[in-house]
Amino acid sequence: MAIDFTLSPEVEAVRDRVRAFIRDTVTPAVAGFTEEGGGASREEYLRTIFGLRAKAREAGLWLPHMPKEWGGMGLGHVELATVQAEAARTRLGPWILNCQAPDEGNMHTLLHWATDEQKEKYLRPLLDGRSSSCFAMTEPEVAGSDPTLIRTTAVPDGDEWVINGHKWFISGARRARFAILVARTEDQVPVGSVGATTAFLVDLPSEGWNDVREVATMHGSTGHSEIVITDLRVPDSQVLGGRGNGHRLGQYRLGPARLAHCMRWIAQAEQALDMMVDRSLKRYSHGSMLAEKQGIQWMVAESAIELYQCKLMVLHAAYKIDRGEDFRTEVSMAKHFVANSLNRIIDRSIQVHGALGYSTDTPLANMFQHARWARFADGADEIHLMRIAQRTIAAYSDTGSTSSATGGLPV
Ligand SMILES: Cc1cc2nc3c(=O)[nH]c(=O)nc-3n(C[C@H](O)[C@H](O)[C@H](O)COP(=O)(O)OP(=O)(O)OC[C@H]3O[C@@H](n4cnc5c(N)ncnc54)[C@H](O)[C@@H]3O)c2cc1C
Repeated sequence: MAIDFTLSPEVEAVRDRVRAFIRDTVTPAVAGFTEEGGGASREEYLRTIFGLRAKAREAGLWLPHMPKEWGGMGLGHVELATVQAEAARTRLGPWILNCQAPDEGNMHTLLHWATDEQKEKYLRPLLDGRSSSCFAMTEPEVAGSDPTLIRTTAVPDGDEWVINGHKWFISGARRARFAILVARTEDQVPVGSVGATTAFLVDLPSEGWNDVREVATMHGSTGHSEIVITDLRVPDSQVLGGRGNGHRLGQYRLGPARLAHCMRWIAQAEQALDMMVDRSLKRYSHGSMLAEKQGIQWMVAESAIELYQCKLMVLHAAYKIDRGEDFRTEVSMAKHFVANSLNRIIDRSIQVHGALGYSTDTPLANMFQHARWARFADGADEIHLMRIAQRTIAAYSDTGSTSSATGGLPV
């Protein structure tokens, strides 16, 4: 059995190039830009970030998650983990490399589910950075945790579908050129069952797609729209992945996309831990530096242990995806653990920074506001726990051992 955590020299070189590009080119260029663009004019902000995208592309640091034949870097998921973690050291990093949510998940989805014609029309411009997209599934009236409850309907009318419904928290909807929208199409399938919904490609803007507001959140109003859909018409050729496959498509999309979130969260957690240690080495109180206090050391140590676990879990889940093995339990465990660790590590870092950590003079406050959503979006903690428990119980019932439900590792 070979257990080898070293990267091949080629992948190590790619990771180092991404690290250097983010550190030396992206970070200084975007310093001072807030989520809305900061003090810079909108024009200056856009010129800067599109200029960075062009540089990333020239440097061959573009679409790390896509196959080479589609203009990507052709990395496997394990290799991707190293690149995503480097890219996410700065907020705009993934966007500059064109591997940001929700486009990244939508690219995977289109690659797997779209027809050749749909790929040319929707995937190609997205990969070229000429387009952007959104994914419209969640509805205010029903639990997003259970997509079999979706109420938005699509009804056939000749060779068109007529869609009516209500969506919210649709990230990036205002700048998107198209949406992947999930609606109920199969009346005979009971509510609560898989097979009732279908995904559609919707060109934006479209008559009947009404973006009524960007929902203000605890991290500001940063692009999550509420959409009222009234008699929106889409041709039958816009069905994505076949009729009745909306649920399966959503689940397929979320597997690797959840792990990509974890890869980016690891970068954030590491930044918070770096800052925690840095501050503890510089702050003096009651006769010694904070780094010498046992109470502070415990926070550092617990964070380090958790971050190590996060990295191992993400690498192992990525390894299972690369090998084509069933990765659902490992991705669920990683998503749950990394999301919660991220919140705990940022919280401890704020604690060590005291008032400074609570201020907006450091990135910690903003990181904390963003991190909170990680515990319920793309599968709430409780849903992942429920699925992990179900598979653990099933493993025991089927084999007399829970071993296969704890990573299937040879220990
Ligand atoms: C910043 C952000 C961006 C988002 N972007 C998108 C997007 O682009 N597209 C999109 O479609 N959606 C998006 N969402 C929505 C997100 O996917 C949903 O919030 C998520 O699926 C949970 O659904 P819900 O909010 O309706 O919560 P609910 O399903 O109502 O769940 C609320 C809580 O109830 C509990 N719960 C639910 N079910 C169970 C259960 N079976 N057992 C035990 N407890 C349970 C959990 O604690 C859960 O947190 C986004 C959300 C946020 C915050």
